[in-house]
Amino acid sequence: KRKVYQFGNKSADGNSKMKNLLGGKGANLAEMSAIGIPVPPGFTITTEVCTEYNKLGKEAIIELLTEDVEKSINNIESIMGSQFGDSENPLLISVRSGARVSMPGMMDTVLNLGLNDEVVHGLVAKTNNERFAWDSYRRFIQMYGGVVLGMKPKSKDDIDPFEEIMEHLKEKRGIELDTEFTVQDLQDLVYDFKDAVKKRTGHDFPADPWEQLWGAITAVFDSWNGNRAIYYRTMNGYPADWGTAVNVQAMVYGNMGDGSGTGVCFTRDAATGENVFNGEYLINAQGEDVVAGVRTPQQITKLGSQRWADLAQIEEAERVANYPSLEELMPSIYEELKIYQDTLEKHYRDMQDMEFTIQEGKLWILQTRNGKRTGAAMVKIAIDLLKERLITEEEALLQIEPNKLDELLHPVFDPRALKMANVIAQGLPASPGAATGQIVFFADEAKMYKNTILTRIETSPEDLEGMNLAKGILTARGGMTSHAAVVARGMGKCCISGAGALKIDYKKRTLTVDGKEYHQGDWVSLNGSTGNIIEGKVATVEPILSGEFAELMTLADKYADMEVRANADTPKEARAALNFGAKGIGLTRTEHMFFEIDRIRAMREMILADTVKGRKHALEELLPMQRSDFEGIFEALQGLPVTIRLLDPPLHEFVPHQLATQKELAEDMHISLAAVKNKVAELEEFNPMLGHRGCRLGNTYPEITEMQTRAIIEAALNLKEKGIVAKPEIMVPLVGTVNEFVEQENIIRKTAEKVFEERSEHIDYLVGTMIEVPRAVLLADAIAEYADFFSFGTNDLTQMTYGYSRDDASKFMSIYLEKGILKADPFEVLDQDGVGQLVKMGTERGRSTKPDLKVGICGEHGGEPSSVEFCHSTGMNYVSCSPFRVPIARLASAQAAI
Ligand code: ADP
Ligand code: MG
Ligand code: MG
Repeated sequence: KRKVYQFGNKSADGNSKMKNLLGGKGANLAEMSAIGIPVPPGFTITTEVCTEYNKLGKEAIIELLTEDVEKSINNIESIMGSQFGDSENPLLISVRSGARVSMPGMMDTVLNLGLNDEVVHGLVAKTNNERFAWDSYRRFIQMYGGVVLGMKPKSKDDIDPFEEIMEHLKEKRGIELDTEFTVQDLQDLVYDFKDAVKKRTGHDFPADPWEQLWGAITAVFDSWNGNRAIYYRTMNGYPADWGTAVNVQAMVYGNMGDGSGTGVCFTRDAATGENVFNGEYLINAQGEDVVAGVRTPQQITKLGSQRWADLAQIEEAERVANYPSLEELMPSIYEELKIYQDTLEKHYRDMQDMEFTIQEGKLWILQTRNGKRTGAAMVKIAIDLLKERLITEEEALLQIEPNKLDELLHPVFDPRALKMANVIAQGLPASPGAATGQIVFFADEAKMYKNTILTRIETSPEDLEGMNLAKGILTARGGMTSHAAVVARGMGKCCISGAGALKIDYKKRTLTVDGKEYHQGDWVSLNGSTGNIIEGKVATVEPILSGEFAELMTLADKYADMEVRANADTPKEARAALNFGAKGIGLTRTEHMFFEIDRIRAMREMILADTVKGRKHALEELLPMQRSDFEGIFEALQGLPVTIRLLDPPLHEFVPHQLATQKELAEDMHISLAAVKNKVAELEEFNPMLGHRGCRLGNTYPEITEMQTRAIIEAALNLKEKGIVAKPEIMVPLVGTVNEFVEQENIIRKTAEKVFEERSEHIDYLVGTMIEVPRAVLLADAIAEYADFFSFGTNDLTQMTYGYSRDDASKFMSIYLEKGILKADPFEVLDQDGVGQLVKMGTERGRSTKPDLKVGICGEHGGEPSSVEFCHSTGMNYVSCSPFRVPIARLASAQAAI
């Protein structure tokens, strides 16, 4: 099998399709070389050799490779007209790692390999540039020592021995920049660096270029099994046998003086997607100097340079003198670079992120890849490329990362302001968006300031109103499906949950992070897309749902064959969902309607009532309120279907747990405080998630089901009078036995008939069930005899299949994820292997009875792209998700269909 692939001189053994064998970097270097882009010659050792290396070890692999590597070095030598290790006309090389996908934790690149005390003189003679030669030598020892000899600092507190030496010398010489070192300084550095290597490793720095080369190659292979790399690839599910390739390439020098430089550029704007060529460069610099921020980089284009000067508040004259663009400084190089960027973008049919180096007036391209971009840029670029006929409609859709659409739907921080932000802690990015406000610790204080951040250890249904009023929600406990997270996502409100570093003291009203105390009224900002908690105010900007966004969505609908509905509890949420293109409501949680101040009282009276009569009385009070809720939602939906779930949560969630509120309730109801307390204690459950909830409520208190059905049917009839069609689909939660459903169905149908009779009018409605208890899956064929539709409640189904309480799972989830025991949080990403089997089985069994049974999903998974794709594969009719995830699900649904 071929172990080494050469490239250079406008030809190559490999090409861009060979990423698995040559790694991303190597495959693209080959491709560029083959299409005539000036790439320094070199070769790639395949990923298969890496796998061999892990089996055979160092000595054997060197023996195996020696002939090929020597031949390939010869090839570079003849193209470059210089010799590796030669002390008169030396060839220097770089050794670069490169897996299939770019991976943090892999070995860093070693530049200027091949230098030693003799060769450095050859480099001086050859280039007539003493400074350059010694600068390259000290860089080489520094990089080789760091990445090959293991002298890089392992933690934040570790010192980098080389940096320390340099700092020391700068101090002694009273200078600030690396570029201010004299030749003598650089020679001293080389000497001191070698000394440090000897001290630290016990060996002399290897002087033999071949020993250097093998050391670097095997270090790249070793890095594939380094701790960081292993951690990263298990997290992403990349198998160990992928391995990494090694790229060995002739050096080109950007640090040879003022006619040289190095930079990075993008074929389009990675932040906005605008079709403008842009990038940064530095004169007389090498490698990562541009990104490392050693000096302020300069802009590639004149336009970019002027924009940058505006932002930095620099006068035009100063800009031209100190920070001229490449376009102004080296116009012919700029023109050439522009041609290559255009060629590469057309060739790869996507926005490219490129690295280049200019050596004394000659331009070299060192890397190209599809560029990373923001959500906004992603959409604009895909649609623009489609319009430019570079890609097809299908390709445009597949180019979109559905989750990134989220960034477009919420207010965002001004990227300029974000650059200066002070991040104090990080939590889970539970609900995206950007929020800035003053800290409050209690829900009923959410109105205290104009903009508040409700900061809680955790939230409960009692906090709902406060959550609604706050600009953002921050909790110290709870996962991605915690109460705070789910409710916030539904509201489209920014939320960070489970920020464990926060110590919240309700009594003192303080928030402590890392020893620093924050008080009520202090300003904080939340970045719900990253989970970053930022000190102080950060300016936000409203998202613009640009023309391209709409165009993309229309395109998605053209290809999708599975509908997307939304989970919405209020007319406002319903309208938001329709705005985002929902084709109906897949879940309306009626209990959320009971938490408003005047309703919770009636609800509590109902719960506290000891007799059926007392309960009915309280329910009568609730009826008109529910009816008007449903009218609002039906009206918003204008004839689209609305799935309404009957009361689901355990009753104890509705009763007051604080003494003051208990007293109030006792007075309101003219009963004793003791009676209230007794009832509250009575409702206490050891395991409420598996307790008295779901249809178990409706079956023990049938009058609740009656009231809710009446409210739904009456609302629909009222709308009919106004000429608006309402399509209610009444859904029974938490069914586990056929009888549980049949009982409820009977009550619903009887109540509906009664209302029809009273009004001498009639509407169409459906009665279906949630499938969220494993037993319901097993009996799905029997349940389907009675149910008009199924909706998989995958939150509960996941909880019960794993036996994880979703309210407590956060205690072990992070450890499970870290250790790789779980690949993903099953409450976020549908577990296709396990829970997915149940979804599939339930659908099949249901349809074995009723072939055209309507099936959907209404768990949090309905808005998660990989889960949406899975739902499509099981033949679901629709997925339902929070309003703000509707566009994501629409796109995922289209991708699943392509
Ligand atoms: P990464 O994968 O971290 O981007 P690279 O292998 O691309 O690492 O290299 C790091 C830096 O070194 C880049 O700026 C790259 O352009 C530069 N570089 C790599 N090889 C050479 C070379 N042969 N000549 C000049 N610069 C090089
Ligand atoms: Mg690179
Ligand atoms: Mg449920």
